Amino acid sequence: MKVSREIHFETRLLHNSQKTDQATGAVSVPIHHASTFHQFDIENFGKYDYSRSSNPTREALEQAIAALEEGTRGFAFSSGMAAISTAFLLLSSGDHVVISEDVYGGTYRMVTEVLSRMGIEYTFADMTDLHAVREAVQTNTKVFYVETPSNPLLKVTDIRAVSELAKEHNALIFVDNTFLTPALQKPLLLGADVVLHSATKFLSGHSDVVAGLAVVKDEELAGRLYFLQNTIGAVLGVQDAWLVLRGLKTLHVRLEQSLKSAAQIACFLRTHPAIHKVYFPGFEDHPQYDLQHRQANGAGAILSFELAGKEALYQFVSNVEIPVFAVSLGAVESILSYPAKMSHASMPIEERKKRGISDSLLRLSVGLENPADIIKDFSAALETTMQHFAHQGVKL
Ligand SMILES: *Cc1c(COP(=O)(O)O)cnc(C)c1O
Repeated sequence: MKVSREIHFETRLLHNSQKTDQATGAVSVPIHHASTFHQFDIENFGKYDYSRSSNPTREALEQAIAALEEGTRGFAFSSGMAAISTAFLLLSSGDHVVISEDVYGGTYRMVTEVLSRMGIEYTFADMTDLHAVREAVQTNTKVFYVETPSNPLLKVTDIRAVSELAKEHNALIFVDNTFLTPALQKPLLLGADVVLHSATKFLSGHSDVVAGLAVVKDEELAGRLYFLQNTIGAVLGVQDAWLVLRGLKTLHVRLEQSLKSAAQIACFLRTHPAIHKVYFPGFEDHPQYDLQHRQANGAGAILSFELAGKEALYQFVSNVEIPVFAVSLGAVESILSYPAKMSHASMPIEERKKRGISDSLLRLSVGLENPADIIKDFSAALETTMQHFAHQGVKL
């Protein structure tokens, strides 16, 4: 089927090149477990030969994400970190990366503890401050690495401006689009060269698969990334590729619901006396509110908030009933996480504190529950927390 760019995103999630299987008409992509493929002609091999190199089920997902991100070629990996690490290996010894300072903890670890051993230099910069980004550039800068909104403080980077800076320096720009997905933000259209995903999160959406994706638009870059994918071999298995494909079909409706709920919960938290600060790009007074709404179709479904201190946070978490308290985000169930001990545990304490990721900060990924139930749950847990401190004569 020819899929016109004119039809809406949510329609394209369903009516695309994966709509029906060419051979059987099946309306769900067949799972091809084969590791190897018989060659019918001794001279001319078929399209598939070995599943690390290419597999029809994985390819269906790779084509789906490439189309949704408006790229030319997609690549599926065994995790978000496998996608990110493989993309970083486009770099060589002596190259330099400018990278968002409050980047995902695993990416921080890859850059500081693995790439550094291979002679690849890095500078962390506040990507929301273009002056700071310019200051960080060196003559050997080859990649600008952006995560926006950032994790967990939801700072927003101007993808187009950083892309222009990257072009000026003949460097590439990688954008981790995990938090917004192509339903809300399309970095390739804003000048990015490589879009990366932890498909573990919103794209699959059900906390049942670990997967990573990369998408590029440039053919030559696609060839180099394919070479690395096939060489390193951290490819996604076929069952997991199928789960991501299934999750994608409901991406739009899931996000629509979660975005609305996130905005309501953020407003509730903001007016609560026991909450010191709420980070959410949907607030009109968020420092990059205009930018966020210019480059994306919404604020996303993630917010972070600060309690009075570590003890208040412990009290609150032990009294909350609805969200799961866990690592990860972007699922049908709301997920409450503690960045200091979870996503950013691999960042040294001084570095973490310097970035404003305190011991009293929680991150909430809003799922599909009725938001009134979450608000009621949080309200009760905060009340209990305040009473606990009141007994000790402390007012939060
Ligand atoms: C989870 C996450 C990753 C890592 O992905 P995995 O699938 O866990 O390997 C990278 N970036 C962001 C923003 C994430 O949230």
